[in-house]
Amino acid sequence: MKRGLEVYIHIPFCVKKCDYCDFLSGPGTLETQKAYFSALRKELQAASDRDCQVDTVFIGGGTPSCAQPEEIAGILEEVRKNFLLSEQAEISMEANPGTLTGEKLAIYRQAGINRLSIGCQSLSDRELKELGRIHTAKEFEESFYLAREAGFTNINVDLMSGIPGQTLQSWEENLLRLMGYRPEHISAYSLIVEEGTPFACRNLDLPDEETERMMYERTGEILGQQGYQQYEISNYAKKGFACRHNIGYWERKEYLGFGLGAASLWNKTRFANTGKMEIYLENSGNLNKIRENKEVLDQKSEMEEFLFLGLRMTKGISEADFEKYFHLSLTQVYKDAIQKHEALGLLKREQGRLFLTRKGISLSNQVFVDFLLDEEWEREQ
Ligand code: SF4
Repeated sequence: MKRGLEVYIHIPFCVKKCDYCDFLSGPGTLETQKAYFSALRKELQAASDRDCQVDTVFIGGGTPSCAQPEEIAGILEEVRKNFLLSEQAEISMEANPGTLTGEKLAIYRQAGINRLSIGCQSLSDRELKELGRIHTAKEFEESFYLAREAGFTNINVDLMSGIPGQTLQSWEENLLRLMGYRPEHISAYSLIVEEGTPFACRNLDLPDEETERMMYERTGEILGQQGYQQYEISNYAKKGFACRHNIGYWERKEYLGFGLGAASLWNKTRFANTGKMEIYLENSGNLNKIRENKEVLDQKSEMEEFLFLGLRMTKGISEADFEKYFHLSLTQVYKDAIQKHEALGLLKREQGRLFLTRKGISLSNQVFVDFLLDEEWEREQ
């Protein structure tokens, strides 16, 4: 049997840096982009393994749609050459309004991309300007319909809450306006002000904690009424459109990340590629020279990951899967934490699964803390 694999490809280029962004991304000249795609191809060749069946590919960034579309198609061709790409693979690509054209979209479709993730963030021009985005709400609309015309029937839209100056009412308006487009999937995240970004140096008029909590509650309610099912803390989808690639992350499937700074989980080891462009461009064909921060996961770390990642999904974790993987029952390891949070109404156990309740989802960090295993536990094993 072939070994299942997910592939992530990082395209670090953007038209301009947004004011809140701390991702590994930024503008790149055509020359740098050319060199980068050539380096990516070398990395894929170096990792070539035809015994691996790739079930999902995610081309993220950055803004993959600001690169030459032929380069994106070329990278997918390279994935096909070096791995066994399943015929039913979910192939997603991130795109930003203001960078999409009908011609580009046709090339993506032709290359096999079957899921588009559009970074809209807000449908208010005031909020978009505040975030330092390059596009308007109208440009999002144009991009969305262009994607539909090109044949994309599986579209995610990213929306951001907690934007400076945003109120509960303007957030609800954003959600309701988005409903007019009927995307198949919505990722609704809240803004995090990261150190080192322009936002971190500004005096921002951020919504308070209670407003943020209400925004989160209303998101679930409004999207639920519109037929979207929440399947993860920040993700909602129409039936059958949950993102397979992300579910793979939360279920700890093996994945390889290609490109600058891309992270991987392979052979019970987590590692990430160098974040330095010169080093990556020069050495991408030699995996040992670009892979850094290797962390071999011990049983304790794997158990914690199993819980933290699995509980992000509304379906939670399967007790049978836990036992099959670790040869220990969930109760043996986490009896006290489970009992405590069941009593608080934050966790529920039903039909062999453990999952967060609605209340537990909003207080998930509080729950997760109690699932960290101490060193004493490790010594006892
Ligand atoms: S488009 Fe995305 S990756 Fe690029 S700067 Fe803005 S937030 Fe960051």
